[in-house]
Amino acid sequence: MTREVRHGRRSALLAMTASLILYGTPAASAGGPSPGVQTAERGVPRCTTLRPVSDDVRRRTDVSLSYRWQGRLDTSGTLRGHELRLPGGRRWTAGPRAFAESPRGDTLVTGERDARGTDVRILDIRRGCVMRTLRFGSLVYGTARSTDGSLYVSLVRRSDRREMGIWEVPAAGGAARRVLAAPSGRATRAVPRSLRLEALRDGVRATWCGAGTCVTRATTGQSTTHLPASVDVDLDLEPGASAPDSTPTATRKPVPIHQRWSTWTVLDFKFHATDSSPGWMRTAILAAAEDATDSSNAMSPIFTPASGGASGVIRYTATMPEACSAAIACASHSGSSWTLRMRPQNHDFRWGRLRWCEKTDANGCFDAERVALHEFGHIIGLDHPETAGLQLPASATVMHRVTPSKPNAGWGRHKFGACDVASLQRMFGLPTMSTRFSTCDTVPTRVVLSAPATTMSRGQKVTLTAVLRTQSGSALGARANMRLNERSVQLRRRPVGSTGSWITSWMKSTGTPGTYSLSLIPAQSYEYRAVFPTPDDEGLAGSTSSDLVIRVTGPSTCTGNCPHEEEDPT
Ligand SMILES: [Zn+2]
Repeated sequence: MTREVRHGRRSALLAMTASLILYGTPAASAGGPSPGVQTAERGVPRCTTLRPVSDDVRRRTDVSLSYRWQGRLDTSGTLRGHELRLPGGRRWTAGPRAFAESPRGDTLVTGERDARGTDVRILDIRRGCVMRTLRFGSLVYGTARSTDGSLYVSLVRRSDRREMGIWEVPAAGGAARRVLAAPSGRATRAVPRSLRLEALRDGVRATWCGAGTCVTRATTGQSTTHLPASVDVDLDLEPGASAPDSTPTATRKPVPIHQRWSTWTVLDFKFHATDSSPGWMRTAILAAAEDATDSSNAMSPIFTPASGGASGVIRYTATMPEACSAAIACASHSGSSWTLRMRPQNHDFRWGRLRWCEKTDANGCFDAERVALHEFGHIIGLDHPETAGLQLPASATVMHRVTPSKPNAGWGRHKFGACDVASLQRMFGLPTMSTRFSTCDTVPTRVVLSAPATTMSRGQKVTLTAVLRTQSGSALGARANMRLNERSVQLRRRPVGSTGSWITSWMKSTGTPGTYSLSLIPAQSYEYRAVFPTPDDEGLAGSTSSDLVIRVTGPSTCTGNCPHEEEDPT
């Protein structure tokens, strides 16, 4: 939703290499599907003939030709797949990276991106079959078709998401050729970027928009650079929209961070005198400041309103830094001072007029408290997960680049998600030794077991002590080498030399941080180990101590199986 001025933009683009693989195959041709295509046509057969289809756009008004394209979301709001319903009840199911667009006449362009490229097919929606299949070695983001039947696709390179320009696939078949090169610079490097592709009568026009600049190129005419009239940012992720690309496995990781403040820094703020927030917005901002402070489960900065001088200022304004020109809210900082800007109600974006739920409670509104929490997250150092290529479920973060509007998953979330908390804990540490670690991450632990002596007389009592802490190492940030209280630690024992099962007891917390103990009167020589089982309610990994042998000497008072009640832990 917001984009601060960001560092580290990549410099000039490398020269384009011919990494496009394209093979267009008439659908009825012999031979099996190409690798990776096998999931593509679930439910939609190939057309048995390639009879000409109508290209009469007016026939789109024929209700019998209506189709339905929708995303399938899981309970967490993550886009998991798509379904295309064709007239007559045919269905086509596809994965989360599928698309259906550019209807024309009886036909529709559908496709699906995968790890190696993109399948694109032209469906005859009246007959419910596939007219033509194309396979691209790159990613297709956007298609258009001209009246002469040519198909234009926008390609993005898989490896680094570089724009590869607009390619034309002739209606008559034959090799694709690039008809428009992608511009270099901010329009195609900035995140998020957008592309609008428009078919002309005999060509195509493409408009790339980045953070603050758009470049328009057409097959006829000059290239132009201009300010965005509109940019596809801050949009709710609707079913059917292109989901941010990610590998399916990268689902739960802490969001990226920039270190900025020290532990428990007090960040006081005031409302700007002239760019003043209306009362309902003030209420939302104040609530968000409490949300950010209370839900971090970390020693993150504390937001508090001030009347006099303050490090932060809240502005309710239509004037945004250029990097936030298309954003509904924006966090920025200069040294130790910072500014949070909220765009005013009814600001006219291309996607519609901005409505804040606190002012106009209706679907499509944005929850100002939630949006402000996101901005406060930026101020204390959180970045968008998409920056690191992560696509997190709505329950895991409030730091998505794209803000969900009501009633989509996460629209009204008023506390940091688990992956935000993990990042804040890594940056600032946990407030107490008993604070639970965010389940978004797994922090390794170590447990060390000790005893006052390794030899003792039979009948004596021995107290074993375990110290539980997180492991050391810079990767853990402020979570490293931290003693852990109020956890469950086991003491296991078995006779020396035994390979049998362990006798397990639970150790007791002591008054010493991270320390657990247990006393017992061993009837024989045992080897002991302390075990911290992996908890299921927090992001800690279990650990096991080294084995510790305590030998018992002196005359035996029993033979064979000694009764455990004499030695039971106390
Ligand atoms: Zn943001």
